[in-house]
Amino acid sequence: MSQTAERSAIEDLGEFRGRAVEFLEAHASQIGGNDEFVWGEGDDFVGIVEEGDPETEAASVAAARAWAALRFDAGFGWIDGPAELGGGGLTGAHLRAYRSLESRYDLPDQSVFTIGLGMVAPTIAAHARPDVAAQYLAPLHRGDVIACQLFSEPGAGSDLASLSTRAVADGDEWVVDGQKVWTSNAHHAGIGEIICRTDPDAPKHAGMTAFIVDMHAPGVEVRPLRQMTGGAGFNEVFFTGVRIPDSHRLGAVGEGWGVALTTLMNERASIGSGMGLAKGPGPFERLVALTRHVGADADPVTRDRLARLYTTHVVNGLTAKRATAALRSGGLPGPELSILKLAGTEHLLAIADYVAGVLGPALCADTGEWGTFAWTKLVCGVPGGRLGGGSDEIVRNIIGERVLGLPREPR
Ligand SMILES: Cc1cc2nc3c(=O)[nH]c(=O)nc-3n(C[C@H](O)[C@H](O)[C@H](O)COP(=O)(O)OP(=O)(O)OC[C@H]3O[C@@H](n4cnc5c(N)ncnc54)[C@H](O)[C@@H]3O)c2cc1C
Repeated sequence: MSQTAERSAIEDLGEFRGRAVEFLEAHASQIGGNDEFVWGEGDDFVGIVEEGDPETEAASVAAARAWAALRFDAGFGWIDGPAELGGGGLTGAHLRAYRSLESRYDLPDQSVFTIGLGMVAPTIAAHARPDVAAQYLAPLHRGDVIACQLFSEPGAGSDLASLSTRAVADGDEWVVDGQKVWTSNAHHAGIGEIICRTDPDAPKHAGMTAFIVDMHAPGVEVRPLRQMTGGAGFNEVFFTGVRIPDSHRLGAVGEGWGVALTTLMNERASIGSGMGLAKGPGPFERLVALTRHVGADADPVTRDRLARLYTTHVVNGLTAKRATAALRSGGLPGPELSILKLAGTEHLLAIADYVAGVLGPALCADTGEWGTFAWTKLVCGVPGGRLGGGSDEIVRNIIGERVLGLPREPR
């Protein structure tokens, strides 16, 4: 029995917490107790994701990887993973206990791993050959490998099943030609989960197959796309004669749609529960301070709007807790998690509208005044949030048809 497996058999939560605190205290510092928002102090950045120039981004990814490796080597990187694959062999309760402790410490931003760990890793665990799953799951959790999601194409977004990137069998390999787009973090990724058309004559949902592709293989070209926020977090990816071994197929030939659904369910769960501002105290403290700063806090209409935002902020937090509790008690991410995604994007849109109304021209004209122009990144980032992970309209269709049981949209 390995040391980790032995520990999993005997370690109670109290002992585990003690070990976790010891590790965190040795390698990180606690977030200061006084995180009250003070107008004019510190960084005034406010946005949905942190974005920097290429050098800042590279440094941030390096710091994220270093922390992931340190944590993994100490036994906290894949707490509930099977011991035989390099995981801790412990339970979901141990994982939640660790996450709760870790959230009290000031650590490098880990969002570069969100797609790999939240969406691609569960898909690999469910659909890859055991030896291929063993090859990738521990490196993904250790931060050695970053994964991206190669689904959308210029002609296939909401209607993903219209995708046309081809994979043609050639011996025990597949040859891929085509283009993907909006691929978040492809420029950092070592592997991608790609859905390809393998049978153009089959009905469109039946002619697709999923693979793990090596992002450094000959014929893969990643080109950055700049967004209106100024960041370039996603990319176009071109595939020209890229070879994928058949061992790297996910699921059976022709069953890529089912594989994609595994990823998409996990995507809505991780987007929905993580929906919010990138850093700093809660958005509400910032909004109150901004409202006071511009002298709008005595205006009854503004106060009413602010109260509504606060109510939504609290209700969304409770919905996220309820959804997380359902997942903890063994449920799989279901269509009801789409509610969280929609509620999160609607709330961000309402914040953006409020801020635009309160700030007026100061939102888009940089006067150098602290905490004013800074809101443009949020306002320009909200439309992306309303598209990524399923557009608002598609999410409404899912809620209508699969949660509320309403008649299906005419198709
Ligand atoms: C920030 C961000 C990150 C992303 N990251 C990734 C990634 O890592 N990997 C990846 O593969 N993709 C990624 N995407 C792409 C994302 O999945 C697509 O943008 C999304 O699926 C919508 O597709 P589309 O952009 O082609 O829009 P379209 O599908 O062309 O939709 C255009 C408009 O038509 C509406 N519409 C379409 N169909 C219907 C319908 N049946 N009923 C009602 N309205 C409809 C949509 O709601 C939308 O308003 C990302 C997108 C964003 C914004």
